[in-house]
Amino acid sequence: MANIAIVGAGVIGASCAAFLQRDGHSVTIYDPLPPGEGCSFGNAGSIGPGSVVPLSTPGIVRQAASWITDPDSPLWIDWRYLPRALPWLTRFIAAGASPRINGIAKALRLLHADSFENYRKLLGINAKSLLHVSGQLYLYESDAAFAKDTLGQQLRAALGIRSEILGPDEVRQLEPSLGPRFSKAIYLPDSGHCSNPHRLVATIAEDIARNGGRFVRTSVKDFEQHAGEVRAVVTDVGRMPCDMVVIAAGAWSQRLVGRLGLRIPIESLRGYHVMLPMPETAPKRPLYPLAAKIMMTPMEHGLRVAGTAEIAGLDAPMNERRASTLGKIAKRYFPSMTDEPISIWMGHRPATPDSLPVIGPSPQHRNVVLAFGHGQTGLIGGSTTGLLVSDLVASRKPTIDPYPYRANRF
Ligand SMILES: Cc1cc2nc3c(=O)[nH]c(=O)nc-3n(C[C@H](O)[C@H](O)[C@H](O)COP(=O)(O)OP(=O)(O)OC[C@H]3O[C@@H](n4cnc5c(N)ncnc54)[C@H](O)[C@@H]3O)c2cc1C
Repeated sequence: MANIAIVGAGVIGASCAAFLQRDGHSVTIYDPLPPGEGCSFGNAGSIGPGSVVPLSTPGIVRQAASWITDPDSPLWIDWRYLPRALPWLTRFIAAGASPRINGIAKALRLLHADSFENYRKLLGINAKSLLHVSGQLYLYESDAAFAKDTLGQQLRAALGIRSEILGPDEVRQLEPSLGPRFSKAIYLPDSGHCSNPHRLVATIAEDIARNGGRFVRTSVKDFEQHAGEVRAVVTDVGRMPCDMVVIAAGAWSQRLVGRLGLRIPIESLRGYHVMLPMPETAPKRPLYPLAAKIMMTPMEHGLRVAGTAEIAGLDAPMNERRASTLGKIAKRYFPSMTDEPISIWMGHRPATPDSLPVIGPSPQHRNVVLAFGHGQTGLIGGSTTGLLVSDLVASRKPTIDPYPYRANRF
């Protein structure tokens, strides 16, 4: 059995480590942060096996152009960073225009379909308090807005994802605390949420440690390579020999694989959340008003309102105004709620141009596996990614076809 170094202790690194450990490997996870304190800390908690719509779709340029001048809009680009983001943005737009959309949706479906089931394998008895197949509501403020959103409906129908169209009375029956703004909704009964994504990763990590896995709080700076293999990871605290490496460093992965001579386009799509006191009648499920592109999810510690995409790189400070705007938007939907934040947060979604992660062997190294780039759906895809990586390392029949996620597609 191998001594495997895993770089990154987010939901992806932890899921990979846990499944690899179950195969008998010895795992060491490197991260300067405690488990789950990167992007995996503050996501919206949505677990939607039906989340199949890529970020870049045919109308993206027109839609983005209408947002770009508004600092409170769902997408914001820091103009000073634009020259660095331009190659990625060009590929992103091309992915949306291409006839690949159906294939991308199918690959997202494969990765997301068994998300709950595979997390249950990792979480044991803790799954009950963390995972909720509560359904999700996609909300529309007018019949015209609903009629315009056909792509998602077509993709979900083509992939056999169950959904129901609801009118305003049915929406209010399901979620009595919502204001009367919504005239239509799509209900996805097989989707749901995790009520504490940080606790989910911490729980998996505790299990790994209990079974002998090691967590080393340090950054991996480089790799010691010899004849197409990595022999050791080079860290702040020295050189650590290993038989194999899994790179799961989220939005930082592009920098890291650059040390291996690989060029893989990953951009940080920075997103925010604000935690608000729970409305008097708590919503039961994630609510997604499509016009605002925010997700409102009932969490263990309040209502989490998460969303927005900001392209400003890994190093720019967080823009608190964008987080507090989320609270103001949520108040439109829950009129009786206070929008005084309990806390705010910013995280780096690790985004590829085509909304599919990179999962699989490095094209140039015999003992390196890549597992990053899950963008806006890394919580959903985490558990199956871990299982797939363990299958690839074991050279057994993979749980899903890994081809769509190969690194050399770029
Ligand atoms: C606002 C927002 C809402 C979201 N909502 C959802 C949602 O509802 N559902 C969903 O599925 N997804 C959602 N996401 C996306 C999801 O959170 C991410 O896709 C996921 O967390 C990515 O996990 P990861 O493990 O790849 O990255 P991370 O959690 O960021 O982990 C990567 C880790 O690598 C470490 N690292 C980096 N460089 C090094 C190095 N050199 N050496 C060692 N360690 C290193 C970092 O410190 C970090 O801990 C959302 C994201 C945001 C921002």
